[in-house]
Amino acid sequence: MTIGDEILQRLSTQYRIQAEEYVSLYTHLQSRDPFQVLVATILSQNTTDKAALNALKTLERDVGLTPRAILEAGRRRVEKAIRMAGMYRSKARFILEVSRIVVEKYGGDIWNMLRGDVEDVRMRLMALPGVGGKTADVLLATLGIAHTVPVDTHVRRVSTRLGLVEEGASYEAIRKRLEEVFRADSRHLAHLLLIAHGRRVCRARRPLCGNCVINSLCKYYQKSKKRLPA
Ligand code: SF4
Repeated sequence: MTIGDEILQRLSTQYRIQAEEYVSLYTHLQSRDPFQVLVATILSQNTTDKAALNALKTLERDVGLTPRAILEAGRRRVEKAIRMAGMYRSKARFILEVSRIVVEKYGGDIWNMLRGDVEDVRMRLMALPGVGGKTADVLLATLGIAHTVPVDTHVRRVSTRLGLVEEGASYEAIRKRLEEVFRADSRHLAHLLLIAHGRRVCRARRPLCGNCVINSLCKYYQKSKKRLPA
């Protein structure tokens, strides 16, 4: 069994993926609309998925979740609707700009942007305002367009502690390494399970290593055990 399979098997016994805890996944399952998933993912930057989901629901209720509805509503109404997601001014600017590009360049249908070679699609997404590698990868992985492991703060922390990636590695280095570790068809699940683990057990401060189902695979744990007095 590969290390990736071992990690996933053990984490799967520990966590059940609840879509509501992942705003992008939840939005995808509810709407099957990539534009809504992209807006949800932008809203989730630097905040909790819960706050992002609340903001998305308010945006849907007060404005609508189509590029044209957002453009018609304008900056102030969008800002007001998404305020609870934090950084609402810049997020509103990004969402409006993305809406404008989808309407003007892609005829109002984001699918026109998502067709073709996966790397080209990723570059197109990353050229959008407010969309970096992580946001693009979350969208692509959630829609099943790319088999990749989007790297958020939890994924970065857990994989660094496990010793899968070097401390301070770049986003791209981590993503590529995790694509080696996890099989293509399990990479999105790996992303979700590593987030669940980072939220509940492998927390930033005081990780619960004694209760961790993957501690026997973890470099951080091995090192910290050595430091304990005999
Ligand atoms: S043993 Fe500790 S540091 Fe390692 S993955 Fe588990 S909780 Fe995180």
